[in-house]
Amino acid sequence: MTLIVSVLILSGIMYKTDILIIGAGVIGLAVAEELSALSKSIIVVEKNESFGRETSSRNSEVIHGGIYYPHDSLKTRMCVKGRELLYEFCEKNNIAHKKTGKLIVATEKEEIGAIESLFSNACKNGVPGLKIMDREEIKKMEPDIFGITALHSPETGIVDSHSLMQRLIGKAKANGVTMAYNSEVMAIEKDKDIYNVKVRDANETTTLAARVVINCAGLDSDTIAEMVGIDIRECKYELQYCKGQYFRVNQRKAGRVKRLIYPVPHPKAGGLGIHATPDLGGGLRLGPDHEYLKNRIKDYSVDESRKKEFCASVKRFMPSIEEGDIFTDTAGIRPKLRDYGSDFSDFIIKEETASGFPGLINLIGIESPGLTASLAIAEHVRQIAFPA
Ligand SMILES: Cc1cc2nc3c(=O)[nH]c(=O)nc-3n(C[C@H](O)[C@H](O)[C@H](O)COP(=O)(O)OP(=O)(O)OC[C@H]3O[C@@H](n4cnc5c(N)ncnc54)[C@H](O)[C@@H]3O)c2cc1C
Repeated sequence: MTLIVSVLILSGIMYKTDILIIGAGVIGLAVAEELSALSKSIIVVEKNESFGRETSSRNSEVIHGGIYYPHDSLKTRMCVKGRELLYEFCEKNNIAHKKTGKLIVATEKEEIGAIESLFSNACKNGVPGLKIMDREEIKKMEPDIFGITALHSPETGIVDSHSLMQRLIGKAKANGVTMAYNSEVMAIEKDKDIYNVKVRDANETTTLAARVVINCAGLDSDTIAEMVGIDIRECKYELQYCKGQYFRVNQRKAGRVKRLIYPVPHPKAGGLGIHATPDLGGGLRLGPDHEYLKNRIKDYSVDESRKKEFCASVKRFMPSIEEGDIFTDTAGIRPKLRDYGSDFSDFIIKEETASGFPGLINLIGIESPGLTASLAIAEHVRQIAFPA
């Protein structure tokens, strides 16, 4: 950090900023860009050597429609609004993206009811253009895909998340935001109406005094909240790590699928089910799967022995796929809120005056569809930080 903000910090001297954002993933960057129009004193601190090195670069890059989540949830509101904002932002800022459309495919009679429920939930959520398709319509659209019925969402798409983050940084920096990489938040102390945030880089520990602290620390966001003094058990902020691995399809088979193809989700299996996701380079990935990690270790290895299971899952809707067609790719980790007896957990975006910490805004459990929702989440945070 000394290198990057050296004009601002003299070793050992406390530096003051209006807003300190912890984390340079897509959420921290979107928030920084949004708030930079209203404050000229914003620092983003990031423990890694650059932006987007954790969950924001380890996902499916899907712009979700908003089909699955309960109507009255923050996830739905942020996803539906975020999708619109993201397409608009991509158009205006020349960010590679594609409205590929998506099919959720039932391969057995027993799954037809689930397709109908998803259709009615998605309509309630305001997802546009949805249509239920029969076997022939599916074949016509995607000759390599088998299904007896499917839900088609034409608004779902894919985005180049790296370019999105790069553009957000460019805009934020143009508005005066300071990016401090290699800067890990180690401790936070509240002193009257100021937060003294101790940040460690390779050489030293610096204290940044901030009026507002915005916790966008992804997989570590519960740890940051606890550092300030929040009782994360009582507030139900505790995270558990849920890994998602991907396999990649060889080029010969990849070109045969144009849209995102998802199975019907089975609640007991967790997640949306192993799906096929085309990328902007003409490739095709399968995944992610769903595995809770016992320890909070960021293990991004991909287990080759899962190949059989991946192939069998996908074969149900893409019969031409063979084990020899797929090879290991990347993995990501979902910051899942602990299951406190509820089937669904919503995003937590909360200003903490009620817990005795005015000016602290926590964003916790920002799992999928966090990339889609990023710009709407940033707007939401702006409304909290700068109420009209
Ligand atoms: C497998 C998988 C697939 C997904 N697919 C999709 C999808 O297709 N579409 C979609 O919309 N969403 C998807 N998501 C969700 C999406 O990727 C996330 O919601 C989003 O990237 C979260 O961004 P973030 O900025 O909150 O977290 P992150 O990208 O993890 O950023 C948090 C940052 O905080 C930093 N940090 C942590 N602690 C400290 C500290 N003490 N000091 C300084 N910095 C710190 C970290 O280094 C990190 O860079 C997926 C997620 C996963 C895991």
